[in-house]
Amino acid sequence: MSMDKANIYLDYAAATPLDESVKQAMLPFWQDQFFNPSASYSPAIKVRQAINHARQQVAYWLGAKPTEIIFTAGASEANNLAVAGIMSQYPKANIVISSIEHESVLSPASLYDCRLIKVLEDGRLDLNDLRQKIDNQTVLVSVMQANNEIGTIEPLKQVAEIIESIRRQRGSSGLPLYLHSDSTQAANYLDLHVARLGVDLMTLNGGKIYGPKQSGLLYLKSSVKLQPLIMGGGQERNLRSGTENVPAIIGFATALDKAQSLRHEEAKRTLQLREDFISDLTRAIPGITINGSIKQRLPNNIHVSLPNIDNERLLIQLDAHGILAAAGSACSASSNQPSHVLKAIGKSDLEARSSIRFSLGRKTMSSELKHVTQVMAKLIS
Ligand code: PLP
Repeated sequence: MSMDKANIYLDYAAATPLDESVKQAMLPFWQDQFFNPSASYSPAIKVRQAINHARQQVAYWLGAKPTEIIFTAGASEANNLAVAGIMSQYPKANIVISSIEHESVLSPASLYDCRLIKVLEDGRLDLNDLRQKIDNQTVLVSVMQANNEIGTIEPLKQVAEIIESIRRQRGSSGLPLYLHSDSTQAANYLDLHVARLGVDLMTLNGGKIYGPKQSGLLYLKSSVKLQPLIMGGGQERNLRSGTENVPAIIGFATALDKAQSLRHEEAKRTLQLREDFISDLTRAIPGITINGSIKQRLPNNIHVSLPNIDNERLLIQLDAHGILAAAGSACSASSNQPSHVLKAIGKSDLEARSSIRFSLGRKTMSSELKHVTQVMAKLIS
């Protein structure tokens, strides 16, 4: 990884560097194999075959059929496609989503009759509230597999069971009811098998798994009908037109393959680093508190509140020491509003503004985290 050696990068939830093997897999498709995969001559057919192989590769990890994979330009597009692609077919229906979804679910959902499911203090979904929010006009429920700010892993299987029982009550004469999950942050550490999770639609994002940015997919169960957002040449089974971004597709599939192959090993290694980091921080900084569930949490996430500290200022000071961390999600950093996720778990504006997120990754080392603890303790005292 060619990153400034002086920097300690702890913002892997915002962006991951491109893996070298991913880069090598992508390279041929910009020049030697630049052909439009829809063309009929033999070199183009080879490119088409490479896309087919990538589709099979990702379908394998999801336990899906290759035809259920729609490649998109990243997770925001996949989330918009899931929400608008379902909701636009049912003008009188409503959508039920968790109150801590990423903006790329929240914003398109807000264009419809949208109900927010409460979360508990630890960021886990309130399942009773979920049951209450669903009525016979609900067609889509969207609950992320893991949260991007506080790292909370949501009880997706239980959500799927609730949905399945409501479906059975509705019978075949009622509206359909689908479950979508934004699994962007989960893919490095958790199982993505769609049948085990019980999801009908799933979003994945290449930019968070050491693949290229603006790559990703929407998994769409074959029984689910979707209205496309981008219409044109009919690529991706007519659900996402536009000449395929072949390097991005190949890069995404290679990255997902590596991330899922490594996930047990990486989860174990990262968890140990995180546990040590949390105990060092709590020892060194009086009054520090951890936000979000401790147990049901991505192994690479540390989200803390620091009493009487302005997070923006602290981040600038950390940057001056070569430490790169985040106040919340990078995507919403420009809005300057206290995080909706922290508000949803009951934090005040002041508490939200005194919180920072460290997210660890493949290159994070114990010695770096020891150094961060020392710098933090110095800055805060
Ligand atoms: N969903 C989640 C949970 C995310 O963390 C992000 C990015 O941070 C996105 C969606 C959007 O990803 P992108 O901006 O790459 O489309």
